[in-house]
Amino acid sequence: MKQNLTIREAHLEASSFLMESMSTQDASHVSRLLLEHVLGWDRSQLLLHWQERFPADKWACWQEALSRKAAGEPVQYIMGEQEFYGRVFQVNPSVLIPRPETELLVEAVLLRGRQLQARLQREALRVVDIGTGSGIIPVTLKLEQPSWQIGAVDLSPAALKVAQDNADRYAIRDDIRWMEGDLLTPLIDEQAEVDMVVSNPPYIPSLDIPDLQLEVRGHEPMLALDGGDDGLTCYRKLLMQVQQLRHAPLMLAFEVGYGQAGQVGEWMTAIGYEEIETIRDLAGVDRHVIGLRTV
Ligand code: GLN
Repeated sequence: MKQNLTIREAHLEASSFLMESMSTQDASHVSRLLLEHVLGWDRSQLLLHWQERFPADKWACWQEALSRKAAGEPVQYIMGEQEFYGRVFQVNPSVLIPRPETELLVEAVLLRGRQLQARLQREALRVVDIGTGSGIIPVTLKLEQPSWQIGAVDLSPAALKVAQDNADRYAIRDDIRWMEGDLLTPLIDEQAEVDMVVSNPPYIPSLDIPDLQLEVRGHEPMLALDGGDDGLTCYRKLLMQVQQLRHAPLMLAFEVGYGQAGQVGEWMTAIGYEEIETIRDLAGVDRHVIGLRTV
């Protein structure tokens, strides 16, 4: 054990170790994030103690974090958290790590949903998030728009637990309805009335999974990634299922994979959605499809 290293030296050593094992440029950034996590400090505390000796009681934990990272584990799972829409969410390997582009989905849902609500002059909108994973979507929607009635469905009990813990963190666990089940099935079973269906379902075509980065394919849950043969299985099912609800929802808002927006938009049109809007992500990919039906 290298008890004599300063924090700065430990950081330099870790950066070159990670650079070799991860072969990425951001090794130094990752090392600093892991240091902050292991030492329980923020950036400024870290800089303040930069030249001091690495705390001996944290060394084993530090080494473990580095070897997990070197084995390809995403830094978010090691730290157990990821930020989304300005808030911190707990994550573990039973849920997909929230992606920044999903913030654009939430933003669009808030904007279009508020417009819809004003048009209908309704006090509340009934929104359900299908395949909620870590719960970033329902938790953010409820915190940004407390008047909406929000439900969240996931097939995985382990994912639902993470989502509920995240809602707990913001003291809104009991304000969201949690349902375990396959896509819209729990809502169809009870003939629920839903105004808006939001979903970021798994959409990677099965054959493309081996080409994903090791961090993704080796560590994130397949249930959250694999979208079947052409990647579109969940959209097909969801669009069949929305027609089995008591009333067709007024708005659908889906995140889609590369090259899928056109097809999903056509399917929405085919079942009566009129104003189809496509939203590009920051990389210029058509990433979200929103459909509205007139009342
Ligand atoms: N709704 C969650 C998210 O957007 C999970 C999505 C998923 O698991 N495919 O991150």
